[in-house]
Amino acid sequence: MNDYHMTPDEFRARGREVIDWIADYMEHVEELPVMSRVQPGDIAANLPNHPPARGEQFDAVLSDLDEIVIPGITHWQSPNFFAYFPANASGPSILGDLVSSGLGVQGMLWSTSPAATEVETRMMDWLVEMLGLPERFSSRGAGGGVIQDSASSATLAALLAARERATAGRSNREGVDGRIVVYTSTQAHSSVEKAVRIAGIGSDRLRLIDVDDTFALRPEALEAAILSDLDAGLVPAFVSATIGTTSSTAIDPLPAIGEICARHGVWLHVDAALAGTAALLPEMRWLHEGVELADSYVFNPHKWMLTNFDCSAFFVADRSALIGALSILPEYLRNKASESGEVFDYRDWHVPLGRRFRALKLWFVIRHYGVEGLQAVVLEHLRLARELASWVESDPDFELAAPVPINLVCFRHVGGDEVNEAIMHRLNDSGKLFLTHTKLGGRFTLRMSIGQMRTEERHVRRAWELIKAAV
Ligand code: PLP
Repeated sequence: MNDYHMTPDEFRARGREVIDWIADYMEHVEELPVMSRVQPGDIAANLPNHPPARGEQFDAVLSDLDEIVIPGITHWQSPNFFAYFPANASGPSILGDLVSSGLGVQGMLWSTSPAATEVETRMMDWLVEMLGLPERFSSRGAGGGVIQDSASSATLAALLAARERATAGRSNREGVDGRIVVYTSTQAHSSVEKAVRIAGIGSDRLRLIDVDDTFALRPEALEAAILSDLDAGLVPAFVSATIGTTSSTAIDPLPAIGEICARHGVWLHVDAALAGTAALLPEMRWLHEGVELADSYVFNPHKWMLTNFDCSAFFVADRSALIGALSILPEYLRNKASESGEVFDYRDWHVPLGRRFRALKLWFVIRHYGVEGLQAVVLEHLRLARELASWVESDPDFELAAPVPINLVCFRHVGGDEVNEAIMHRLNDSGKLFLTHTKLGGRFTLRMSIGQMRTEERHVRRAWELIKAAV
């Protein structure tokens, strides 16, 4: 049997080759065409239809990475990646993840690897301090944080907790009765509607609230919608406010929204998937004004905080509401530590039972960079975004399409939708950079998101020159 396994010596040798392969990739990623150029089916056509009956040489696997996989990669780690929002994979985070893979623990319960739980709890408490979040989200009181795979899952978990709070646990027992209502802005991420569907609430019970001319939710429209639903005998249960919307990084006004939620006993969830990281800088903490009124909060270190996918940090003010909604205790998971009530069992804080030791990569990242290093990276991206915005503003052929509160610049050529769409395709097809689009006020808008860890001023300058030349 043992002949089939990789021995520790082989692992050591092959592991070095793989690390070298990744380091070479890091060194050369800037030279590669940013957006993959393959057509649908091109990659699959190079893969055998059937698995190998006998094991192959590792060299063959490694060379196929270059031959087969790399052509089908869009290079999120390129400094010329300005699309969507970033997904940074820094050196320490890759190494932390590797150690997690090596340990191979499944941390569903405290007792299945106490370190997996306790390192995670401490990392979440560090993040509370690093972002200046309210103490109610720390594990020292009634709240606490947990790593989820994505902001989408975190929003679903928050909604399930809110649903159970609003119905005193009846939804879990009897099913959803069709009276629960959820509110978010027209600019919110689609994960809110997905959560509403999965939670059995139904898209018809999701109110998309109008926004102002900065694309931020209008609190008076929110309150009017809640009052109208109350009049109709419905149960307003959940508001998801966004700090940094996906389309344009608009900032919903949390103080006013929080007051409305408190007045009507509605759960307030805050989705700061990208923007939360900006609060590493004390001068950016204004973004979080009013967050002390929130019941839950999520941001993604796997976007801008240099921690590779997946790592979404989710916080609740009252962990018993979350655990009450999600905990089921079968006989085979009973154990003394859980029964003592002295430990967290993170399986009760999200949908999956099993969980990887993701806190390790966060621990590696925070210790490698220190708060100061992370702040420096964010500060530079903010500066570059402001620079780009100023170039757009001073060019008569272009205009800003939204305010630039953080690191996303939304802009367009004054020539109209077709011109802008052509610019985008021309640039992306060139392989020299990758940017994406959205629609704001019904108009085609280019988005340049500046948050890739390798992006320097020269990349942004070159991108702007290429944009102007692509008209
Ligand atoms: N919320 C916002 C505001 C986002 O911008 C995104 C993704 O870009 C998400 C949620 C979804 O994030 P995830 O992929 O972690 O589910």
